[in-house]
Amino acid sequence: MTANIVVVGSSNTDMIIKLDRIPKPGETRLGGEFLTAAGGKGANQAVAAARAGGVVTLVARVGQDMFGERAVAGLVENGVNVQYVQYDKAPSGVALIFVGEDGENSIGVGSGANAKLSPADVRKAKAAIANADVVMMQLESPLETVTTAAELAAAGGAIVILNPAPAQPLPDSLLKNVSILTPNESEAELLTGVCVNSEASCLQAADILLAKGVETVIITLGAQGAFVASGTVKQLVPGFTAKPVDTTAAGDTFNGALAVALAERIPIIDAVRFANAAGAISVTRDGAQPSAPTRQEIEKLAKLKLVRTDAPSELRVSGAGENGQSRHRATISQ
Ligand code: ADP
Repeated sequence: MTANIVVVGSSNTDMIIKLDRIPKPGETRLGGEFLTAAGGKGANQAVAAARAGGVVTLVARVGQDMFGERAVAGLVENGVNVQYVQYDKAPSGVALIFVGEDGENSIGVGSGANAKLSPADVRKAKAAIANADVVMMQLESPLETVTTAAELAAAGGAIVILNPAPAQPLPDSLLKNVSILTPNESEAELLTGVCVNSEASCLQAADILLAKGVETVIITLGAQGAFVASGTVKQLVPGFTAKPVDTTAAGDTFNGALAVALAERIPIIDAVRFANAAGAISVTRDGAQPSAPTRQEIEKLAKLKLVRTDAPSELRVSGAGENGQSRHRATISQ
């Protein structure tokens, strides 16, 4: 069986200039090194999921320009289905990034076509969403579009993953349709008001989000790994040791791999371990999409071979479904 994943989200081209330091307002600095890289959280997560072994469809908008064409070509090269990637009159999304020698960065995003991704675009992909094991969104797309995707996905019985990045306050009407919310520490703080800096504070923040109707909260904690909280599981899943070179898109790679493992009905702790391994490998490599590891690489580091657990097993407790709390056909193994 395949892991069918639909990602609804953004596609950007990152244009990076590495300089000795970030220019001040009004200042021109010479001597930089310029590079471009495919980015955008939606596209990053789609590529990460495809590399991790998922059958992935992206719902997105790009511009009718060379950036859009290049972005789509990159998705196709990575095996992502682009049937629902539309060309818009607005320019492609771009992120202009200055990086200083100290690693500090300054980023301006022109959302362009990403801001035009509409609820109607999501509805066009209804058949793919109905067939999906996992539907995953982020917050670089209009909130009403994200909300529509969550509604359709939940109604169709998919596991709904929302990566709430970049952070913004979210209505409970959206959260109630979310199976798995994956904030990082600062996003968890923005959503809950709890400063997340310890296991106890992770638990406190997670409990607030669980009370809003989310089934499972996974707070990513950089090198430390991720904290998982659901009705029955509350624990830290430690990260893997890695020598970071470029941490761009670690969260996106984590989410892409997580989606694949959950689509394959891998129990949640193993799924997070798999995602931690993917995130750890990605930080050892440059770039967003190019840094996403293959399934073999992830399995090797995680020392975990994904074997689907479709058959009922004593180890697999489909918690939410069995105690009647789940609105979803798909249940997450605990
Ligand atoms: P974001 O990129 O959204 O800020 P995190 O920094 O929490 O997210 O990283 C996401 C995941 O990537 C972490 O949960 C972890 O699994 C992995 N990761 C990130 N940084 C490191 C690191 N320095 N060493 C090992 N794993 C890392």
